[in-house]
Amino acid sequence: MKKNSIFNSVSIKLGLLFSSIFLSLLLILGAILYGVFTNLFVDFVTKDLLVRGGNHAKALASDFSQETIRHVLSMEKGSTARVVITDANQKLIGSSEPMDADMQNHLLKLKNQTLNKIIDKDWKNHQYMVTISTIEKNKGYVYMFYPSNVLREMDLVLKILILAASFGTIFIALGLIGILSRRLTNPLLIMKDATNRMALGKYQQQIPAKGNDEIAQLANSIQQLGEKLQSYEDTRNEFLNAVSHELRTPLTYIKGYSDILNKGIIKSETEQKEYLQIIHNEAKRVAFLVDDLFEMSKLQVGEFTLHKEDTDVQSLLEKVIEIFKPAAAEKGLKLNARLKEKIPKLIIDAHRMEQVLYNLIENAVKYTEHGAVTIRTSTQKEWIGIEISDTGIGIPSQDLSKIWDRFYRVDKSRTRKTGGTGLGLYIVKQIIEAHNGRIEVRSTENTGTTFTLFLQKSRKVAHQGRKTK
Ligand code: ADP
Repeated sequence: MKKNSIFNSVSIKLGLLFSSIFLSLLLILGAILYGVFTNLFVDFVTKDLLVRGGNHAKALASDFSQETIRHVLSMEKGSTARVVITDANQKLIGSSEPMDADMQNHLLKLKNQTLNKIIDKDWKNHQYMVTISTIEKNKGYVYMFYPSNVLREMDLVLKILILAASFGTIFIALGLIGILSRRLTNPLLIMKDATNRMALGKYQQQIPAKGNDEIAQLANSIQQLGEKLQSYEDTRNEFLNAVSHELRTPLTYIKGYSDILNKGIIKSETEQKEYLQIIHNEAKRVAFLVDDLFEMSKLQVGEFTLHKEDTDVQSLLEKVIEIFKPAAAEKGLKLNARLKEKIPKLIIDAHRMEQVLYNLIENAVKYTEHGAVTIRTSTQKEWIGIEISDTGIGIPSQDLSKIWDRFYRVDKSRTRKTGGTGLGLYIVKQIIEAHNGRIEVRSTENTGTTFTLFLQKSRKVAHQGRKTK
């Protein structure tokens, strides 16, 4: 058995997955933002230095007097940047702040050059970002210095902000994921408990499902599965009851009459023959029932084999109708055969088709007390139709779709009397479908029922062994 560690929980797995995706995305986004921001800022600062240095140089070019120099130096006094003015030989004329060694080192060895450029923007390794602008007519140079530590401080603040935002988002994400995962896994746990109970035989389970998402659909499917299983269980039990009842009655007769014969109480030969006939008839009934059961089990394991041959459906129909004439007459029913058109021969399994017609006509006679059972045939372009209608008790509309199910009987009490197992129509449908045909039913309670089956005319089905589900 698998160990029941917390990492087996879907919520933990999902939580870990989502938070690591979140975290990676945030870090990538943070790194991009950080890079863009610092680069933009450095660009902005250096360009600003160039513009200001250029402006100072222009002012000094038009008037390179002590007063203008003082004015330029005093302009930069309050700002973060520092300005340094040299003559054409790099001799210091004035600076807005006292010169330190690093500033000193940045003064270039230039002569008679016209320049307006950035000398240093490496704020990470150097103390200043520096630009130089030439004062026209070879009067001197204006250097602008921007202390790197201002940028480093900003850089630190930016990193702290990104990290704080990342952690904050992770905590919020974890919280949300926790809530979401619980919403996801709680219904799964409910379904697990429900299926465990179903495994113990409590098939009908109420699984609360909100909405119509995949989880709610799964919950509904499990519930429907349970209902289906329950209905199978019920019909199985009813079927077993019906079968045991069906078997018990003839077996009681067989046992009773054979006991009497065994004890030699009956001397008259005619009476003995009569009793033997009863035993024979009852044994035949049991054999029919066993045949039906066998047929059904074959349908279920997929050993349903069709033996197709050229078949005269018309004579087949007439033969089956003939069989039911006595039974219909006994109940005072008319058995009408309206076989107007001559049906063409079909390539079908004659024995199985006889079984189908037998079942349908037997039902019609069985479930009709007054009136008539009428059999009609019709031919269409590609199909032939066989219609068996009766004026019997009918089938309630809510049962119409279920009569094809195994063991399904409409009213258990009425079929107990008429003696059915609920297998007939299931077998009929399987046989018709194996022939690529179809069967339909129309019925009104207490008025009558009509079964119509359609068979394809010239379709030669090649397969012999049909696998059923
Ligand atoms: P059964 O052996 O009980 O007759 P079937 O599968 O042949 O089983 O039929 C299923 C149920 O359909 C029957 O129990 C019966 O209630 C109903 N049924 C079938 N044919 C008719 C019919 N012609 N008239 C009324 N009810 C019918």
